[in-house]
Amino acid sequence: LAVDMETIRKQLPVWVEVSRPHAAHGKVASYIPELSKAPADALGVTILTKDGESASAGDCGMRFTLQSISKVFTLILALMDHGEDEVFSKVGMEPTGDNFNSMLKLELVRPGIPFNPLINAGAITVSSFIRGRDPKEKSERILQFFKDLTGNPGLDYDLQVYRSESETGNLNRSIAYFLKENGVLSGDVEEVLDVYFRHCAILADCSDLARMGLVLAHNGVDPMTGQTLIPRRYVQIAKTFMTTCGMYNASGEFAIQVGLPAKSGVSGGILSLVPGYCGIGVVGPALNDKGNSQAGVHLMEHMSRELDWSMF
Ligand code: GLU
Repeated sequence: LAVDMETIRKQLPVWVEVSRPHAAHGKVASYIPELSKAPADALGVTILTKDGESASAGDCGMRFTLQSISKVFTLILALMDHGEDEVFSKVGMEPTGDNFNSMLKLELVRPGIPFNPLINAGAITVSSFIRGRDPKEKSERILQFFKDLTGNPGLDYDLQVYRSESETGNLNRSIAYFLKENGVLSGDVEEVLDVYFRHCAILADCSDLARMGLVLAHNGVDPMTGQTLIPRRYVQIAKTFMTTCGMYNASGEFAIQVGLPAKSGVSGGILSLVPGYCGIGVVGPALNDKGNSQAGVHLMEHMSRELDWSMF
């Protein structure tokens, strides 16, 4: 890396304030009613390196729900539980070009399995692969995995967001029943949805995202503890999906403008990483028309240019 952490620490608050006004062009998600309460002009960032050095700025302490960011890690857990062959017999590996909650191609494109694990249809299918006697045990295993990845034993759900989505998630319900009908989803549909809605509602802040990103940046080893949390192969798979499908239908543009694996969620979070170097957590609840944090993407582009972060 061209720039040392001291310089990043000095510059970061300036960069946040340059990007923050861009939030005005975005809109906070409201299809999950509870999410609409988030502050539209918030913007925060944390960068965490393998040496334990960190830099934070703006609203980095704000907590938000992981939403789609969680899909990267439930995929990893499903792979750890069942292996590649089984998981990818029910979920594909290709970007869609459709909305994250689209059902369109499930009917149109044979064999009717979701295109990838980061769209809702794919992530709901992945939730059905998590081992556990009942939905409670499955959700507990997922939450524990996130606690291990963040090194934060206090991690918990936002139950209001969970209930809000569970009560209004008719589209996700339709997707899940459609998958069940087609034999893609096995088990009780409502139980699978419960596991899915819960992991989407796990509360975190920018430093939690940065720590998870750091584990991916180090091929599954937490550099803080030296512990291997994820087999290297599954990190490789996760980072590839993040690069090709992590930023919804702006993944191609993000790869060009930023050049890093990343995953965003509808509550405005972005988890990213510089391979071998650092984890990055960003939050900015106002979303652009592709569903990514408006100011957050601006900040990622700015940082990548200034710090020469692109992997390509
Ligand atoms: N829980 C959200 C949903 O299923 C996650 C979507 C997202 O962050 O893209 O609609």
